Amino acid sequence: MPESSLQPVAPLIPSTAISNEDRYSRQILFSGIGASGQQKLASAHVAIIGVGATGAATASLLARAGVGSLTLIDRDFVEPSNLQRQVLFDEADALESLPKAEAARRKIALFNSGVVVHARIADLVPANIAELLGSADLILDATDNFETRYLINDYAVQQSKPWVYAAAIGAYAATMNILPGSASPDPTACLACIFPKPPTGPVETCDTSGILATAVNLAASIQVTEALKFLTGQSNLMRRSLLSFDLWTNERSEISTRQPNPDCIVCGQRVFSHLAGEGRPHITLCGRNSVQIHEHHRPVDFAAMRDRLSPHGQVRFNNLLLRFERAPHTLTLFADGRAIIQGTTDVTLARSLYARFIGS
Ligand SMILES: [Zn+2]
Repeated sequence: MPESSLQPVAPLIPSTAISNEDRYSRQILFSGIGASGQQKLASAHVAIIGVGATGAATASLLARAGVGSLTLIDRDFVEPSNLQRQVLFDEADALESLPKAEAARRKIALFNSGVVVHARIADLVPANIAELLGSADLILDATDNFETRYLINDYAVQQSKPWVYAAAIGAYAATMNILPGSASPDPTACLACIFPKPPTGPVETCDTSGILATAVNLAASIQVTEALKFLTGQSNLMRRSLLSFDLWTNERSEISTRQPNPDCIVCGQRVFSHLAGEGRPHITLCGRNSVQIHEHHRPVDFAAMRDRLSPHGQVRFNNLLLRFERAPHTLTLFADGRAIIQGTTDVTLARSLYARFIGS
């Protein structure tokens, strides 16, 4: 590429001239949205849990559609292996190990500065779920594990907040709308009605099955379209099924979710065991050989920690995280005391490394 093509080009339109009428004109022309639907989107607030592949695609679609406020919740940072499918991140984000929620906030501001984005670098747990999700009109699942989904389901059913399950692995995408109790005149089954226990058998992860970006984008497209129906007051048009689709084999299946199970422990008996914090394990992250430790909640002084760790390995930090490398392990520490330890899936070893270097 000749060097001259890299020179910045003076804008032909002043930035203040990007009006909402221009920006959303094609979406307003679509009869399902219209001018009144666009206004409803502008005043809506959606929380997205997980800003990995699905969450980045979902956040991008919602921000471009003009949803006024987004809360993006993610516990992780950008890595090179994310760039194949996580549409909001670039090489600079991976080199900086920028937390995904913050990287997504910065990227959205470049293409739609009118959207208010709350970037929350956190692991969703019973202790913070009400604070993180309380003000959202709708919750979108973009996580990679059933533990967190059951926690979301407990909270959503308890609070009568709608949420949308979405998952992608390999070439397979699955999604389901959950409209509990008074969230809809026609409530659906909840996640626990359909999956009283986590799906059994060998658990496939990105590590074992790989993943196609196209499967991620299919899950995100369906999830966001259902969200647009809800946010514009058309929940009657939302799909009442668990839909799954394999893009490689073209196999498709649909299970009705019209009838809540009266015996369901969550929406039938209203027992919220995940919200009560029972059985939360340390979680091995999807996509790499690592363990998260999140049992210690305390503010961390990164400069003091650097002084303490420097004799034991290489330390780098910025205002969002500290990285400590001591082969074969890399420990990434966040400001609230949470850590991700790469180079092992052994929880006991990860815990002992944390206790040794960060403190017990
Ligand atoms: Zn249920």
